[in-house]
Amino acid sequence: MAVEVRVLKEAAAGERRVAATPETVKKLIAAGARVLVERGAGDGAGFVDAAYADAGAGLVDAQGRDSADLLLCVQPPSPDAIADFKTGATLVGVLQPTADAARAEALQAKGIQAFPLERLPRTTRAQAMDVLSSQAGMAGYKAVLIAAQLAPRFFPMLTTAAGTIRPSKVLIVGAGVAGLQGVATAKRLGAQVEGFDVRPETREQIESLGGKFLDLGVSAAGEGGYARQLTEEERALQQQRLADHLKGIDVVVCTAAVPGRPAPKIITTAMVDGMKPGSVIVDLAAETGGNCELTRPGETYAHHGVTIAGPLNLASLGAVHASEMYARNVLNFVALFVKDGALQFDWDDELLAKTVWPERPAAANAAA
Ligand code: NAD
Repeated sequence: MAVEVRVLKEAAAGERRVAATPETVKKLIAAGARVLVERGAGDGAGFVDAAYADAGAGLVDAQGRDSADLLLCVQPPSPDAIADFKTGATLVGVLQPTADAARAEALQAKGIQAFPLERLPRTTRAQAMDVLSSQAGMAGYKAVLIAAQLAPRFFPMLTTAAGTIRPSKVLIVGAGVAGLQGVATAKRLGAQVEGFDVRPETREQIESLGGKFLDLGVSAAGEGGYARQLTEEERALQQQRLADHLKGIDVVVCTAAVPGRPAPKIITTAMVDGMKPGSVIVDLAAETGGNCELTRPGETYAHHGVTIAGPLNLASLGAVHASEMYARNVLNFVALFVKDGALQFDWDDELLAKTVWPERPAAANAAA
């Protein structure tokens, strides 16, 4: 009997993405899987049931999840949903098992072999499976478009009969995947773009996209390409220089994060108070608390004439392309173990061994 793969209909409020597209369903079937897609799963991303059926999937309701060997999702299912899964089933998605005790307990109670994709090592081989990167790209793009929409000004320089309009000055804080997409997007809209990050190697990346690197004289290069936490003195110096600089900026898009921790607070209330009325801050880091002290996750409001937006789940706003990328990431990942119509896990493969949750004891890996 071929392995049964089920594509879950997302349940989280506002989530429009889906974990498989008709294109990836076709490929899963070619790998020998039997694929069931829950009715309406792709609606939010423009993939209708008929397209999945044409690709060879069976269409099902949310019942009967306990026959699936492998379940694919974007956001973590609720503990109640997990209780309906087959004992020992495999689950792939952005699962954040340790972010919610009830979820972790539900997964363990059912002996679910979870692959939280955010745990994937960020090696070269894993790039095609890297959902953090693919979704951050969409989030950075949308954050800049939201900023452009909220700003009471043009982004580009314009020479008109009514005089010359100077271009908006946009500062992107944090130049990881989302930030760099933000630099590129703001540049395409004609703004004068600056980017800043504590990792010095981002200078070249920002410049290659037509932005200017804002040098605040503080470096926090850490391990594995990620930033480390700054010391108190480094933070103070960074903040004083940033406060001065922000007085001349029209739009700030914040994307700075430190993995596994709340977002660093980079823009203080005092800094916002020093900004010009009509300025805009879009804080993409709102999801993990925000880079700006004044950010209210999920809200947009004005503080002394400065508009502050903390939009959530920005990748879902671009659900078509975000889903296409996510689904390909998932397909590339599950191709590591969906083989000849069966699930075969090679625990010597670090992409599987390091991603699986709960972690396998070293002895289990050796015995497998
Ligand atoms: P992220 O979302 O964890 O962080 C976003 C950015 O915020 C990072 O560039 C970080 O340096 C920056 N930041 C953190 N604290 C800051 C502070 N106090 N002030 C200013 N900036 C701050 O990062 P990400 O975008 O997921 O990835 C970070 C980097 O990892 C990438 O840019 C890339 O170089 C590397 N990466 C490598 C691979 C790969 O090789 N497979 C894949 C993805 C990412």
